[in-house]
Amino acid sequence: MVTRYFEHPIFKEHVTPPGHPERVDRLRALEEALTADAFATLDRVEAPRADESAVLLAHPESFLEKVKAQIPEEGLARIDADTVAGPKSMEAALHGIGAAMAAVDGVFDRSFDNAFVAARPPGHHAEKETAMGFCLFNTAAIAARHAQRTHGAERVAIVDWDVHHGNGTQDIFWNDASVLYCSTHQMPLYPGTGAKGETGAHGTICNAPLSPGDAGEAFREAFKSRVLNAIDAFRPDLIVISAGFDAHHRDPLANLNLVEDDFDWATGRLIEAAGRHADNRLVSVLEGGYDLQGLAASAGTHIQRLMWG
Ligand SMILES: [Zn+2]
Repeated sequence: MVTRYFEHPIFKEHVTPPGHPERVDRLRALEEALTADAFATLDRVEAPRADESAVLLAHPESFLEKVKAQIPEEGLARIDADTVAGPKSMEAALHGIGAAMAAVDGVFDRSFDNAFVAARPPGHHAEKETAMGFCLFNTAAIAARHAQRTHGAERVAIVDWDVHHGNGTQDIFWNDASVLYCSTHQMPLYPGTGAKGETGAHGTICNAPLSPGDAGEAFREAFKSRVLNAIDAFRPDLIVISAGFDAHHRDPLANLNLVEDDFDWATGRLIEAAGRHADNRLVSVLEGGYDLQGLAASAGTHIQRLMWG
């Protein structure tokens, strides 16, 4: 497999207040992990910047204007109780979107097989008209729409294994039969959505909630019986992963007990699914993961699996 890794210094200029879990050090920890020999052949490139209009693939213009108006010239602006934006946050978000779109371009034109976007801020909590949960714009949703608009993808599957439910992605695609949204997450937990009964207007939302304390066995069972079956029935042209690593047992924000090997396993199953349905096209976008050691080890394992198939 040829894996492209998108990074950019701007992702470390999206600054959050002291003590905030979604912090610059997350990317520093991941970069440290990538100094290992196993990543010597990883194809690392700078994330391109998306034009502002790319945001409109998943959000209305009024929302884009509202977020732009909230970006401060200095200091930090509070978007909601736990979401902040600084002077560089808009640029960081646009580079994350640009990287996800370039990743989609690359898997469709066969420049590489799969890609990982190591961007901040994350995106899966951003609803059509609401920035929340550390997220400004929904990067994974924009990537899916880009695949449809630009590359003729008929069906895109978004698989979200972040420990929190991706309410934003569910909101954006609730009425859209052309995008399958599958999520494993802890419940109850922020943001409160993600019950099994939430299936979308066309049955293309697939929630597989897990209970606090659940570990790899429950995760793999839910992934096999719900997520993988839904993907096989849907036959996507592209799989996008909302790759959060906060279901790791060390994570301070939740209570699942996954280990690195569980992320390796899930990555392998999605590589196989992409092989069966999508000519290997797989794009993974970083979401959460707040224990630096757990994040670095888990994301590193995930990226290695992308590289080696
Ligand atoms: Zn999360």
